[in-house]
Amino acid sequence: MSAWQSWGRLAARDPARVAKPQSAHEALALPPELPALPFGRGRSYGDVCLNGGGVLLHTARLDRFIAFDRATGVLRCESGVTLRDILDLVVPQGWFLAVTPGTREVTVGGAIANDVHGKNHHAAGSFGHHLRAFELLRSSGERLLCSPGSNPEWFAATLGGLGLTGLITWAELQLAPVGNAFLQVRTRRFRDLDAFWDLNAAMEPRWPYTVAWIDCVASGAAQGRGVFMAARHAASRADLPAWRERRRTVPFAPPFSLVNALSLRAFNGLYWHRAREGDALQHYVPYFYPLDALGHWNRIYGRRGFYQYQCVVPPGCMREAMGELLRRIARSGQGSFLAVLKTFGDLPSRGLLSFARPGATLALDFPNRGPVTLRLFEQLDAVVREAGGAIYPAKDARMPASMFQLGYPRAQEFSRFVDPRFGSDFWRRVSA
Ligand SMILES: Cc1cc2nc3c(=O)[nH]c(=O)nc-3n(C[C@H](O)[C@H](O)[C@H](O)COP(=O)(O)OP(=O)(O)OC[C@H]3O[C@@H](n4cnc5c(N)ncnc54)[C@H](O)[C@@H]3O)c2cc1C
Repeated sequence: MSAWQSWGRLAARDPARVAKPQSAHEALALPPELPALPFGRGRSYGDVCLNGGGVLLHTARLDRFIAFDRATGVLRCESGVTLRDILDLVVPQGWFLAVTPGTREVTVGGAIANDVHGKNHHAAGSFGHHLRAFELLRSSGERLLCSPGSNPEWFAATLGGLGLTGLITWAELQLAPVGNAFLQVRTRRFRDLDAFWDLNAAMEPRWPYTVAWIDCVASGAAQGRGVFMAARHAASRADLPAWRERRRTVPFAPPFSLVNALSLRAFNGLYWHRAREGDALQHYVPYFYPLDALGHWNRIYGRRGFYQYQCVVPPGCMREAMGELLRRIARSGQGSFLAVLKTFGDLPSRGLLSFARPGATLALDFPNRGPVTLRLFEQLDAVVREAGGAIYPAKDARMPASMFQLGYPRAQEFSRFVDPRFGSDFWRRVSA
């Protein structure tokens, strides 16, 4: 098994070399005959961060803060700094990431290269909407300062550009002000998909963060039932509860997946029945990053690893398409604990290949059961294709080239910006 895997732990070919440059100068010392690819923390599920037979430019040592203006919330740091590092620094000073994905163990470079989104897409757009500038290092040695006003075409290609346009060495972010580390969270259960759409429409205008967990096993009248969680940053107040992070780790990957039809049904049923409705004050870590509490949780899927399937479908057909996707998943008996449904807002993305766009997105994990799982994905692809949707490259390890071309109509335009000495397993697969 490869020592270099992404989060899904699927079998992959090792890179020929891994370099950990500490500076732009060191990053340029690449063997000219091998394709290179930046690597953050490998929190992408599939192969956008893998480069079998090539060079991985691991950014672990590009981890320095450069400047932070606590009056304006403008932060400049190297690209290997993680979102966790940033939060540890800025939350005590009254600032927060304007957009964050569901784990803080990702780097700034990785967040830019996938133009990641969070629970507040409908209110704040994606990571790139709060990105002021970055430096892009090309294999030719050229260093481009990119921002919406300077080299804007390189800004648009690199944001969501899957690490293919060059190495981002540093970036400057605009943070959002907060009063403290807590959120006011409102939890509601909904009995089916129709109830979700109603609740979502009522909550979105008033709550900057919204997301729903869906019981992907429930069928018949209960199909699409779930738990809706909305939140906003808590106002300043004196009576904040104490909070201490507790972390556990899955010590090793068992030979088989612990996620199966039985455990799935038990977990989903329990989660639904146990969900407590109401309002509560919650620290930002359990609200935004519930999975970070269990280190190496990806090992529960066993040695064969797992896939995540995340798609987006446009507003005009999202109700129908989501219903159909959930029906097919429930019928298959596959799926996982963590089916997440959310609607995106209509702020246009700034990246040529950005995934987030108006509509609804569904994300869920599937244990790798080989051809059975891949056949289900073909069925799901058909629904997404018919709806005019797209699959998220950050989560993907298998979409066919035709699916990528359909979902990313600017891929041809993007390919002009790909660094001639860069490549990835993903790019070789979808541009074949
Ligand atoms: C538990 C969990 C929850 C998640 N939730 C969300 C979510 O809510 N929303 C969401 O959008 N995503 C989510 N993700 C996906 C994750 O945010 C992205 O895959 C992210 O890009 C991973 O960052 P990374 O630093 O690990 O980069 P990697 O996975 O190592 O690399 C990702 C891409 O970035 C490129 N890259 C990395 N560093 C640089 C650099 N310095 N210069 C140029 N390119 C670079 C790589 O080449 C690769 O193409 C989640 C992942 C996990 C594991």
